[in-house]
Amino acid sequence: MTLSGKTAVITGSNSGIGLGIAWEMARAGADVVLNSFTDREEDHAIAASIAKETGVTARYIQADMSRGTECRALITQAGRCDILINNAGIQHVAPIDEFPEEKWDAIVAINMSSAFHTTAAALPMMRKAGWGRVINIASAHGLTASPYKSAYVAAKHGVVGLTKTTALETAEEPITANAICPGYVLTPLVEAQIPDTMKEYDMSREDVIKNVMLTRQPSKEFATVEQLGGTAVFLASNAAAQITGTTISVDGGWTAL
Ligand code: NAD
Repeated sequence: MTLSGKTAVITGSNSGIGLGIAWEMARAGADVVLNSFTDREEDHAIAASIAKETGVTARYIQADMSRGTECRALITQAGRCDILINNAGIQHVAPIDEFPEEKWDAIVAINMSSAFHTTAAALPMMRKAGWGRVINIASAHGLTASPYKSAYVAAKHGVVGLTKTTALETAEEPITANAICPGYVLTPLVEAQIPDTMKEYDMSREDVIKNVMLTRQPSKEFATVEQLGGTAVFLASNAAAQITGTTISVDGGWTAL
């Protein structure tokens, strides 16, 4: 298989897009390291079920991506990191003048600074292995903005900037760095935004999905975690060896508007 012999470390991968990417990486033959800040039986069970179904080695390592030292420890504990997927992320929606300071700090730490710390720890391993892929899960909000998402939009734009710098610093090596920019994908993170948006706009759940969330997604369909996983597998493949320092949108046309 295309990625056999490689190890993929995916931050924030016990649910949603990260888990979808872990499955697709494993299906492509990569050993996978899953992560989140929790240490529940079910976290380890998810890794066990990926290993059982795909035949790769799958492990779960607890590390809190809001803390730089734990981000770096995740990579050290993984022992090998050929494919780094920075995916951990949280969201909070509020106008700037009411935006809680601690939410700003947490979003910037988890959604942006964690990618700096894991990349710093992983690049020496990639250089030693003579091959590497950094795949940052940014967002359509890394390329464009929406009101009430100041921290998220700032952090995701930062991730796109970090991706470009990583690509330039590794340009002459067999290492690439790219960002995937999803539009709306129906995951727990998006699900959690629905009640607040219903309140904000005084709308039903169906109206929020169709007329608020997917108004900016011209396809009028959510992207799927399998599509995100497939895009990550493509970026890790040899076909993508000359793709570096750029973004791939998986957003149903959102950023074409
Ligand atoms: P999700 O809530 O299902 O997953 C987020 C993951 O991050 C979970 O595994 C969670 O445990 C983990 N996480 C949260 N805080 C953490 C911490 N401190 N340390 C380690 N892990 C932590 O959400 P998702 O929609 O799958 O989001 C995944 C990524 O995709 C995020 O970066 C998000 O910004 C991005 N994204 C999502 C969408 C979407 O529509 N769902 C769109 C664009 C970008």
